[in-house]
Amino acid sequence: MALPNPPAPACQPGSRRAPMRADGQLRRASLENLSDPRFPEHIPLGQRSLRAVWHPCTPLRPGAGEPPLAIARGEGPWLIDADGRRYLDATSSWWVNLFGHGHPAINAALKAQLDTLEHVMLAGCTHAPAVELAERLSALTGGALGHAFYASDGASAVEIALKMSFHYWRNCGLPGKREFVCLRDGYHGETVGALAVTDVAVFRDAYDPLLMRAHVVMSPDARQAADGETARSVAQRALAALEALLQARANQIAALIVEPLVQCAAGMAMHDPCYLDGVRALCDRYRVHLIADEIAVGCGRTGTFFAWEQARGGDPLHEQHWPDFLCLSKGISGGYLPLSLVLSRPAIHQAFVADDLARSFLHSHSYTGNPLACRAALATLDVFEREHVLAGNRLRAQWLAEGMAALAADPRLHRARQRGMIWAADVRPEHAVDGFAARFHRAALAEGVLVRPIGDTLYAMPPYVLDAAQSRWLGARLHAALDAVLGEGALCDAGPAPARQAEVRHAA
Ligand SMILES: *Cc1c(COP(=O)(O)O)cnc(C)c1O
Repeated sequence: MALPNPPAPACQPGSRRAPMRADGQLRRASLENLSDPRFPEHIPLGQRSLRAVWHPCTPLRPGAGEPPLAIARGEGPWLIDADGRRYLDATSSWWVNLFGHGHPAINAALKAQLDTLEHVMLAGCTHAPAVELAERLSALTGGALGHAFYASDGASAVEIALKMSFHYWRNCGLPGKREFVCLRDGYHGETVGALAVTDVAVFRDAYDPLLMRAHVVMSPDARQAADGETARSVAQRALAALEALLQARANQIAALIVEPLVQCAAGMAMHDPCYLDGVRALCDRYRVHLIADEIAVGCGRTGTFFAWEQARGGDPLHEQHWPDFLCLSKGISGGYLPLSLVLSRPAIHQAFVADDLARSFLHSHSYTGNPLACRAALATLDVFEREHVLAGNRLRAQWLAEGMAALAADPRLHRARQRGMIWAADVRPEHAVDGFAARFHRAALAEGVLVRPIGDTLYAMPPYVLDAAQSRWLGARLHAALDAVLGEGALCDAGPAPARQAEVRHAA
């Protein structure tokens, strides 16, 4: 089929259109002739990217868009552009990077894996990295969870957990349990199934007619505390609301999905860990699965390897204290390669053991369990052990707190909060300016920091490598950016900022 040749945007320099030819000829010509005028190497990469790439989470505005930042290389916590300018990657490249860019041990492990086995399908075949990774992750839960089911992105892991939960109940003779419960402002990814349990309007509204209905219950977000109320009592209120729903509809409900400790996309909304004990108890009482989405908060981000380990006051967890499903992605590969997985309880796996094909979980993705991605994850777990990362992070979290102390005390901000390697604060409503997130993003870039607030929430989620001096530097640069943005808003009403990207989510 001949596709129409898309017109080059008229607003960009050097966008001469190639002579009209049949589509097949055009394509051949462009592959053979690298000096093809449609691949002008003298045009900056950001401009070419606007023409060639449909960027994620980025509105397409009429007129010449602001080009994306073209990164040439990475080095530890730094991203370096083509002109050699350095930016501190203060949001860990959308929350995925753990130990900085170009970590020598992960690089070496990947190079060795590359020369051994780059990929093989995981149906009917297996390989050492997939097996070892599943064994080691299960061991990290004390054997409570296991049978890693692999996929590539976080959203796919969520889809898998939802499907497995429904299918489990069906295999148990309870096909009526087919509804899901999620939290207000929760985020679980943007494929059609994951979006159905996501409560972030900007991502879901357009697709609402396509989505299955889910129950949305009160979030335990401690920022909702009324005067004199503690984070704990907010969590208890949220649990009471959940219990009311479960009382009414447990026979129809398959699972509850939660982001333990921090609802990141909601604006780093943090809650009391007692909420985790509460949902575990309620899910047991009403026979509903509990899915812990640790895609963002896993891998040491909140202080423990799994956020869930902070349930029960941080005491060692017995088998029955773990969630029924646990989803991991983002940091599990150290931020190198797309990898996600779902761990589940042995009893769940057992319910799929049958001669009957209809009872089998026949889900798959082509790159499931990719050896390179699994090898990056194994190298990541090695770094955790060898470099005592969790112990080191207790110190780094302290440094982060100290680096951010002046910002936390700034009267224009409030609700400063931190859990492990996540720090956040909100702009007070009386100091809010239009387009804060986009403006702050630009102001911070000028200060050498890559960060992007979520609405009026300013946050830092740096890789686990910043020392005390770098943390202080980060805090000072963010403070300078805040002065630049709020000063600007106070002195002259600049009107709506020319925001280019969504000011939501991890759009850094
Ligand atoms: C990022 C994220 C996802 C989705 O992961 P993708 O790899 O972007 O599909 C799901 N849940 C949570 C909590 C996340 O932060």
